[in-house]
Amino acid sequence: MVLFARNYVAGLVAASILLGCSAPTETESNSKNEVDVGQGSSGIHAETWPKLTAPVALDEQIENRVTALMARMSIAEKVAQTIQGELRYMTPEDVRKYRIGSVLNGGGSQPYGKKIAELEDWLRLADAYYEASMDTAAGGIAIPILWGTDAVHGHNNLRGATIFPHNIGLGAARNPELIRQIGASTAREVRATGQGWSFAPTLAVVRDDRWGRTYESYSEDPVVVQQYAGAMVEGIQGAVTDEDFLGGQHVISSAKHFLGDGGTEGGVDQGDSQASEAELRDIHNAGYVSALNAGVQTVMVSFSGWDGRKMHGRKGLIQDVLKGQMGFNGFVVGDWNGHGQVAGCSNEKCAASMNAGLDMFMAPEDWKALYHNTINQVNSGIIPLTRLDDAVRRILRVKILAGLFEIGKPSTRPLAADASVIGHADHRAVARQAAAESLVLLKNNGGVLPIKATGRVLVVGDGADNIGKQAGGWTLSWQGSGNKNSDFPNGDSIWAGIKEAVNAAGGTPVLSVDGSFAEKPDVAVVVFGEDPYAEFQGDREHLAYGNDKNNEIELLKLYQAQGIPVVAVFISGRPMYATPEINAADAFVAAWLPGTEGKGIADVIIGDKVGNPRLDFKGKLSFSWPKRADQGPLNVGDEHYDPLFAFGYGLDYGSVIKVAVLEEFEPPSDTSKSVFFENGPVAPYKLKVSAAPDWSDELVGNGGILKVEDRIQVALTDRNVQEDSRRVTFTGKEAAAVYLHIFDVLDLSREANGDMQMGMSIRVDEAPSKPVYMSVGKGTIDLSAKIAAVEIGKWVDLSIPLKCFVAAGADISTIDTPWFLATAGSFKFTFNTVQLMPPASGLKCPLPARQMVFEIK
Ligand code: BGC
Ligand code: BGC
Repeated sequence: MVLFARNYVAGLVAASILLGCSAPTETESNSKNEVDVGQGSSGIHAETWPKLTAPVALDEQIENRVTALMARMSIAEKVAQTIQGELRYMTPEDVRKYRIGSVLNGGGSQPYGKKIAELEDWLRLADAYYEASMDTAAGGIAIPILWGTDAVHGHNNLRGATIFPHNIGLGAARNPELIRQIGASTAREVRATGQGWSFAPTLAVVRDDRWGRTYESYSEDPVVVQQYAGAMVEGIQGAVTDEDFLGGQHVISSAKHFLGDGGTEGGVDQGDSQASEAELRDIHNAGYVSALNAGVQTVMVSFSGWDGRKMHGRKGLIQDVLKGQMGFNGFVVGDWNGHGQVAGCSNEKCAASMNAGLDMFMAPEDWKALYHNTINQVNSGIIPLTRLDDAVRRILRVKILAGLFEIGKPSTRPLAADASVIGHADHRAVARQAAAESLVLLKNNGGVLPIKATGRVLVVGDGADNIGKQAGGWTLSWQGSGNKNSDFPNGDSIWAGIKEAVNAAGGTPVLSVDGSFAEKPDVAVVVFGEDPYAEFQGDREHLAYGNDKNNEIELLKLYQAQGIPVVAVFISGRPMYATPEINAADAFVAAWLPGTEGKGIADVIIGDKVGNPRLDFKGKLSFSWPKRADQGPLNVGDEHYDPLFAFGYGLDYGSVIKVAVLEEFEPPSDTSKSVFFENGPVAPYKLKVSAAPDWSDELVGNGGILKVEDRIQVALTDRNVQEDSRRVTFTGKEAAAVYLHIFDVLDLSREANGDMQMGMSIRVDEAPSKPVYMSVGKGTIDLSAKIAAVEIGKWVDLSIPLKCFVAAGADISTIDTPWFLATAGSFKFTFNTVQLMPPASGLKCPLPARQMVFEIK
């Protein structure tokens, strides 16, 4: 419990209004630039890339059918086929009117804006889109719409779906046949809800595990990715030789993200890769070779760039390599507004992407403007009609191949509406096997595993009975946050599996999330690790696991000191520096993100009645395990390869290796001194609230606030991407505050000297009824005038020089609260970043506020 005094204020009115600079506007595209970008194929020697032949050769009948369809289509109708909107922003009515070719549901986006939609909702909406696309009453021709969804580890947006381990765990299993079964099971569940297209598999070969999408990658090793890619594509689509290739039980697959997504500098999401062309080809392209050979029908372009230019404008790779040398004859889809990041482009306008070979734009919100602008660009020749025609031909070809013109509305297609398919026992059995096979045993000193299940087995940790945590990101919600066990009607926690197995052996399973116990156990299983994240929210500066939040080490040491054998089950989306935890445990199991079948873990770690294993460990590291948190990229084959556990490592019950005490290193401080809140609190900062009369502090979780909600509320909301902002409501009942807090103290004196400002992006939703105060540390200023000057409902960046807080009394060298907003009145606002901003000239300080001291306990 922290106790500190704070200067709080009643009364003073700020004297001057600082300049608030409004959020940057979209770059205006200029058509000259657009023509330049994407026209050059510079830097790429397509002839040195693998020469492939598409396994599904062009079929004359299909091509003639496409030609006949296209002969009846206007330019506008053709452009419409190249546009994909998101279901929150594009209604069936829009589809009918604009003849749009495709729709997607983004991560966590559910039909009809529901938090959790049911099978009937998915089908009703799928039918509505389909019927709109086939309705020609107002003119146009009928072309069935294609709905794409991220079924990346099972049909993960659907409640009740079987959730398979994320790719990183599958990579450890080294079992391509299992991958095929996972693809097939997933496709069946997607069929049940009426979609025809899955944005999977991810074929990233991740080289820097600080990337928040590392867990979507099978391996750092191109060989593993290559072995899996084709198997997964065949599982999803069926084999090209199958009778029901793309039909019946299957859906269209999308290999993503082309190319080099796993190779960005620093593991930065959507960043830039500096790989050589040879590395791009031999490492990052490995999976595409087998995916293409397996007949993958769509390829998604990467957000990332190569050598400073975004992939969405890279003609040399999309057109010359993928469609040329590698013979791809399906269609290329963009990633979420990825085209808007190409130089000279915006989300609403990007000829450069289509000219580079993109066939379908993923344009979630801005699809309408993009549609109109693309028509204009074709009409004015900026996009050659031949290029548009090629894009449309490819899209129609895939739609015909998938039988979309014949199979009728989604709810009447094979497997549709069949609730028994969702979370089917067969699928769950595959997932359970996958969870078991993905476990990598890093340490098993003294043969503590398999657990002799006849004794008292204490199961502890916040991962023990937490299906959401074991499923990770891209599960029901985009980031995987906010899920409860009850959201998984067809799933089991790790605890559920252990309980069942221990009971079966006649022992006593005991769950204790906080680790306390009344009776000394014979063994403790501690299940802990990373909380769910997706995309950039999972990017890290280094790979240290333990910090003031992740402090299971205390518990492990406590058990160790009491002579209780400890088994650590580590849930994570990547290998991490967890040496203190490994040292403090007798056995250490890397479980990755095992999905909904938590029983797969018990199958391996809990022995039978006489203590023999029931299943052995099969997993081998598909990512090198780091020795240090700040080791940087660490990949098998590196010149100075120095892992803690090498690629391919993994013990089993036959191993006799005893892991000695490992050298521990002081992990680098992960305290960002410049960004405190970006789409969420930046670790280790915590978002907290407190309110009068007692001012005790409360941590703000994703589920909101409990103790003070009559005085202040904080809810997750969206600005640019899902759940990237917080809406704060001061009810006015009592004075209250929202703030960012850190356990240690920050020294911001250099920054203050450098004239840096404390800035935030906010939107005032309802004007304050009383003054609003802002503090950095103990320096408080009156923000009211500045807030009064902004337009209600408009996002703005507000910033105040750090020096102003110094003038108001902050000891800038010992800051534990870099941002604090308080009022006694009612006030509603939304914010999504709090960060230091560069100096600006001509800013005056608002008046420091006068004192009213209260305590935060
Ligand atoms: C969507 C995700 C998407 C992301 C892109 C989110 O709002 O739900 O599916 O990947 O935005 O940044
Ligand atoms: C992700 C893709 C995903 C898409 C649609 C993007 O943000 O990068 O992997 O398929 O959103 O949700």
